[in-house]
Amino acid sequence: MTTLTFLGTGNFVAPPGRYWNSFVLDGNVLVEPSPTALPHLRRCGFALEDVEVVVVSHFHADHCFGWPFLLEALAEQAEQAEQAEQAGRRTLHVVGPPGIQDHLARLNEAGAVGSVTQMGFTHLDLRFVEVDGSWQEAGPLRFRGIEVVHVPYLRCFGYLFERGDGSGSQIVGYSGDTTPCAGLTELAQVADVLVVECNGRHTPPGVPSSHMDEESIRALHEAHPDLHLILTHLGAQVDTASLTEAGVTIPDDFDRLTV
Ligand SMILES: [Zn+2]
Repeated sequence: MTTLTFLGTGNFVAPPGRYWNSFVLDGNVLVEPSPTALPHLRRCGFALEDVEVVVVSHFHADHCFGWPFLLEALAEQAEQAEQAEQAGRRTLHVVGPPGIQDHLARLNEAGAVGSVTQMGFTHLDLRFVEVDGSWQEAGPLRFRGIEVVHVPYLRCFGYLFERGDGSGSQIVGYSGDTTPCAGLTELAQVADVLVVECNGRHTPPGVPSSHMDEESIRALHEAHPDLHLILTHLGAQVDTASLTEAGVTIPDDFDRLTV
């Protein structure tokens, strides 16, 4: 069993009622440090000190522009814990595409808070893990990154997360931002549950899209009828009612699902 808590379920333009896509696996893995990830972790009752792993699918702003706020808050929390408990630095793992460490440091610089990177390294045992396509470990998280096709100028990864407890293990998949592609098919074949983006069409007819839409979600559902699909990264244009009728789960922001 895995608990998924959605800190946001919207696409890049955060349509009415939906903040930017981001979710938490159980209490310790934050997937996508979206612009509102920090306040929404608090709103959903998570303790910052429980966040052990942060996962990034790709470098678009809606997926990682919350990093400066998150890192400063985590570092401040770790500093206070260090002083109060005389404890050592705790470890924070950050998983992402090749170049993740540099990209996040540049984000802090662009935000005129370049010093937050050093603050993170001072108060946290920060470990960056670049995906390499194999099964990898980042602290308590066993995962595999699978490259998907999103936009031609940026590498984007979907993920398989192995979750286990006394009652057995399951694979929770996440699509990142994607179009129908071999990577998405592989994610769907291996996962027991797949959190998949459904941005909806955002290009004129005939122009290739860089996202999933109602039609491609339906095709994925038909090709993998036993796979539980949970949609996120939703655009205002998506007809959620018809997809819910088709048997796909569509959470609202702040919903907590046990799968
Ligand atoms: Zn996105």
